[in-house]
Amino acid sequence: MKGVVYLGESEVEVREFPVPEPGPGEVLVESKVAGLCGSDLHKYHNTREWAEERKGMISGHEPTGVVAGLGVGVRNVAVGDRVCVYHSLGCGHCPVCLAGTPVFCANEGAFGRTRDGSHADFVLTDARFCLPLPEQLSFAVGAQLACTAGTAFSALQKIPIRSRGALVVFGLGPVGLTALLMAKASGFETVGFDVSPYRIDLAKRLGGGSIHNASEVDPELVVADATDGRGACGVIECSGNEIARTQTAAVAARHATVVFVGAGGESITLVPTYVIHKELTIKGNSVYSMSVYFDAVDFLLRHSVPLDDMVTHRFRLDQAVEAFKLFDTGETGKVIFDWEM
Ligand SMILES: [Zn+2]
Ligand SMILES: [Zn+2]
Repeated sequence: MKGVVYLGESEVEVREFPVPEPGPGEVLVESKVAGLCGSDLHKYHNTREWAEERKGMISGHEPTGVVAGLGVGVRNVAVGDRVCVYHSLGCGHCPVCLAGTPVFCANEGAFGRTRDGSHADFVLTDARFCLPLPEQLSFAVGAQLACTAGTAFSALQKIPIRSRGALVVFGLGPVGLTALLMAKASGFETVGFDVSPYRIDLAKRLGGGSIHNASEVDPELVVADATDGRGACGVIECSGNEIARTQTAAVAARHATVVFVGAGGESITLVPTYVIHKELTIKGNSVYSMSVYFDAVDFLLRHSVPLDDMVTHRFRLDQAVEAFKLFDTGETGKVIFDWEM
């Protein structure tokens, strides 16, 4: 089989690997779609020394496909099942793993980071990471659920439904844009901000609501205008930008919930008058739990969210060099490897 390997300094290579044999409790998944993710780019840009230490480990952490082989003792899936593979590993036995959040396990690890990932013709996984993907959802949507859409849904869920009104998203990359589209589908009036003309254009094309360039307008005024001065009852911050972080509290309505998703940077600065006098609820969101996956699937089956249209570029695995180069420009929506093209 073929698999993608990071070489460091913004280079990847497609190499030949033996097809793995599933051991006890393991499942072999034949890949159908695997996503490229913003976090893959950090690894892509890393040094040659870092890449060498990985000893040819396969990249990627957004696997979907069809079960192709079972190890001894696997009962939760059968050959031919459509699955999405949860990407965070964990020990599987501690309280946080049993709560479905292996991402917080002390023995945390992930496909494409601590073991062979999804940018390969086959992925070997523990059976417990195989999450069922219904026929009604495409593998391209499954790959998004494996990471960005699962995270977006998790963040959106943290905003109480009773507060449904206007919802603002800062940062319209795959997570932010998905959160915006899901919020719109669930009945919020949505306002999105980014500074990238490409992302702004894509958000508009997908019908994300009222979309603005945060470098050209004052988000506080835009949101005040859109809400008769009340502000937004939900705010999701996906940019990680310090100015946007500060603006979240400014655009929020009284008793609003603000969820921080975008990572990085040194600090989050919020004006105390806003936080205290508006009685805001401030939350964080890191990835998503396995149980949220089932809720997200259920949500997508009941609501029309154009996640298939989020995919702007599809590549065959042997085009990995080109795929990473293009994704690195930032001028894309979701980029996927597609085994069905
Ligand atoms: Zn990801
Ligand atoms: Zn654990």
